Amino acid sequence: MQKEKVIIIGSGPAGLTAALYTARARLEPLVITGSLLGGQISITNEVENYPGFPEGTTGPELVELMQKQTERFGARFAMDEVTEVDFDQGSPFRIKTLEEEYEAEAVIVCVGASPKRLGVPGEDEMIGRGVSYCATCDGFFFRDKDVVVVGGGDSALEEGLFLTRFANRVRIIHRRDELRAGEALKRRAFANEKISFVWDTVVEEIQGNGKVQKVRLRNVKSDAASELETDGVFIFIGHYPNSGLFKGQVEMDKVGYLLTDERMMTSVAGVFAAGEIQDPVFRQIATSVGQGCAAAMMTERWLEARE
Ligand code: NAP
Repeated sequence: MQKEKVIIIGSGPAGLTAALYTARARLEPLVITGSLLGGQISITNEVENYPGFPEGTTGPELVELMQKQTERFGARFAMDEVTEVDFDQGSPFRIKTLEEEYEAEAVIVCVGASPKRLGVPGEDEMIGRGVSYCATCDGFFFRDKDVVVVGGGDSALEEGLFLTRFANRVRIIHRRDELRAGEALKRRAFANEKISFVWDTVVEEIQGNGKVQKVRLRNVKSDAASELETDGVFIFIGHYPNSGLFKGQVEMDKVGYLLTDERMMTSVAGVFAAGEIQDPVFRQIATSVGQGCAAAMMTERWLEARE
């Protein structure tokens, strides 16, 4: 059993920032990275909205820089995956990974959320080559192009509207003939002349040669198949928090987002959470960084108060 003062689960912007702050507070944090060091941003090609990079940067570069900065102050990284947590007895908390068992006096959960995927052929291969789950991140690269948006909820409409700043044409493909989105967004979308709707339709395949060229569609009512040429496919069919490990351990909302108080603490004293695992609203690198910083500061204070 390896004993640690602070374990940070997850290595996206929230986790890496929590690592930086706890490392500078001389808590020698251990970051258990999960399967993808850097989380969602490590699969984001270009990052242009993170302050401090006037020419923009790439997701992998940002992850590398953040990791280096934390290591300079003594943060350690275990390229490993957590398989089980036991918070029942309070601190020290028990954490099992594929390779090790740990005890930690405090834990910061930064395991993020994942955009739901369509699960159709071509989708995975075309991520970063025209398939995107983030209009704020990637919309700029579709100036004067044609894009399709998949989904019929608030996100699809809000992001679709955002995309009209760049794209010539935004076609929203929805599997029903009625939107799930709220009235205000519906009104704005219907009034926007760059937006049109493809109703009762699902995407069955995304095709291209190195980058997206077209989608293969099926009308769910008539069963008619069709194809649509497009430069980009933006998929907004919901997110899911990666909270499976924590079920029954900490309180969460009905969707599975961890509930935190104003000090970033979960329902278990000494277990904090930051980033998208507890934030269904903002989902930005900048906000996750802020939440990671806040959780680290509160962790430090909580540990200090116990001593
Ligand atoms: P959502 O409300 O769950 O909507 C997901 C949409 O994707 C639905 O229209 C759904 O179709 C469709 N969908 C789901 N799975 C699909 C699949 N496999 N293939 C094709 N289509 C699929 O998700 P969201 O839009 O991300 O919103 C999440 C929450 O955040 C909501 O509570 C929303 O109100 C909130 N939000 C609010 C705002 C705002 O107020 N400005 C902005 C963004 C999000 P069906 O309709 O047929 O189920």
